Amino acid sequence: MQHVILFDAMLHLDSPTEAARWCSAQRDHGRTIGFVPTMGALHSGHLSLVTRACNENTACCASIFINPLQFEDAEDYDAYPRDTESDLALLKSHGCDMVFMGSLHQFFPEISDINEIKTLSAGPHGSGLEGQFRPGHLDGVTTIVERLFRTVGAARVYFGEKDFQQTLVVSDLARDMGYPEVVVCPTVREDSGLALSSRNVLLSTDEKTRAQRIYPALLAARDAWSSGERDPGRLSAIMMECLSLDGLVVEYAEVRDPGHWISEPQATPLEHAQALIAVRVGSVRLIDNLRLDQ
Ligand code: AMP
Repeated sequence: MQHVILFDAMLHLDSPTEAARWCSAQRDHGRTIGFVPTMGALHSGHLSLVTRACNENTACCASIFINPLQFEDAEDYDAYPRDTESDLALLKSHGCDMVFMGSLHQFFPEISDINEIKTLSAGPHGSGLEGQFRPGHLDGVTTIVERLFRTVGAARVYFGEKDFQQTLVVSDLARDMGYPEVVVCPTVREDSGLALSSRNVLLSTDEKTRAQRIYPALLAARDAWSSGERDPGRLSAIMMECLSLDGLVVEYAEVRDPGHWISEPQATPLEHAQALIAVRVGSVRLIDNLRLDQ
């Protein structure tokens, strides 16, 4: 028997099969679905996606699934923040109609041993940056997102620009699958400029102060762009200078033309530009990015 929990007016399903049935029924009733995939530990960034999905569609659903396939090590997976009770309350108060969860077994019912799951390739946009510093991460994202897309079916799916390379990869996947439509939403930040992230709760006060250097580094690159700088190497150096601080380990601070992601090195001068940063502060890894040419 399927386990169905009614969380006041929001339906909480713990089975992807039930979720698929709900989504189908919504379409049968002529409703359009806005879908927000998440890993939980929700903050205002996630909720901005939920609000937009609700406003632009007649039915809104979200998923909460901490996908083990996208974590390189078990420690990082174990440390990932979890707060289901708060997540459910926030989703409900932001107008979400249905939230679903599931286990790896439920998402891959045809595979008896979850270690046998074959990951999909993230494709060309999976190379470089996250592909280099978190090998396998974007393949793991692609593998679960493909199952989430299949579960929900035709829908508009909302992703945050905060995970910029991820938006490129999932847009490719959606295009290859023929659905859904991907909507990319702006990054929500604290007043300090620090991008909201579920991982921010893992930062000590000192670490958070260091992390607050990320946004000024992105802004410095944008200022340089506005002053005519078009050389990716020099833009990178400007960001590196802002990020040079004890206790802040920079994995990358690069500028890429999103339309020519896979060109290595990037053509000079750049025509369009996205500045992207990944740092480690203590045990916490943070990423952020900013469009320079808009
Ligand atoms: P996650 O739970 O980290 O997998 O994120 C779920 C979705 O929320 C992804 O599409 C993220 O890009 C998006 N997201 C995370 N942080 C933010 C933020 N600060 N602003 C906007 N969207 C965000």
